[in-house]
Amino acid sequence: MSAAEKIDIVSRAAALEAEYRSMTARAILEAAIRRHFPGRIAMTSSFGTEAAVLLHLVAQVAPDLPILFIDTGKLFGETRRYQQELCARLGLSDIRVLSPAAKDVAERDPDGLLFTRDADACCDIRKVRPLASALEDFDAWITGRKRYQGGERENLPIYEARGRRIKINPLAYWTAEDIDAYFEEHDLPRHPLEADGYRSIGCMSCTARTAPGADPRSGRWAGQAKTECGIHISLG
Ligand code: SF4
Repeated sequence: MSAAEKIDIVSRAAALEAEYRSMTARAILEAAIRRHFPGRIAMTSSFGTEAAVLLHLVAQVAPDLPILFIDTGKLFGETRRYQQELCARLGLSDIRVLSPAAKDVAERDPDGLLFTRDADACCDIRKVRPLASALEDFDAWITGRKRYQGGERENLPIYEARGRRIKINPLAYWTAEDIDAYFEEHDLPRHPLEADGYRSIGCMSCTARTAPGADPRSGRWAGQAKTECGIHISLG
């Protein structure tokens, strides 16, 4: 990517931020999907505890939008079932399940325990590489990240210039209360593990329950310095 191309992407993200910063999440989605990146935009979803909100919004705007779902091979069975049930209920028709390459797993993680030795390497082959490959078809992608989730997300803009793509976070300024209210208003089903104390859900091997009142993401890679799987860092 040339310096001029990079400046162009940064300028475009800044212009979009200025134009849409005060708009609703639905208006941001409509503009991105229909006006700015038609046919060149996808959404990623982990089908975790808050995913239903953005999926419901997308279903109102474009139920045929490609939804990229990374199945690392280490997910909870409940997440897979929730994904299928939620997509059927919302009428989302283009779910693309991304899996790690068999060659990568055979070479780097033959015993399936790489997460105990090098979690970053495990996330790389099971999440980052499959998503990087899938994103080749797109100029923009939509994520459900929010500022209130803290850590590297606390200064999140709605539009990010990352690499050659624009990343769009329509819920960046939503609060936990906004999310709960949306679930209530639209009678959306909760992830089945939420009631069991899981408030941020990733792979079974790297997700723990969190105590009431604790940071929901503290159950991810608990006891490690790691706080992100890498798809929002490595892929930009
Ligand atoms: S979350 Fe854990 S098991 Fe899942 S890909 Fe990352 S390190 Fe591997």
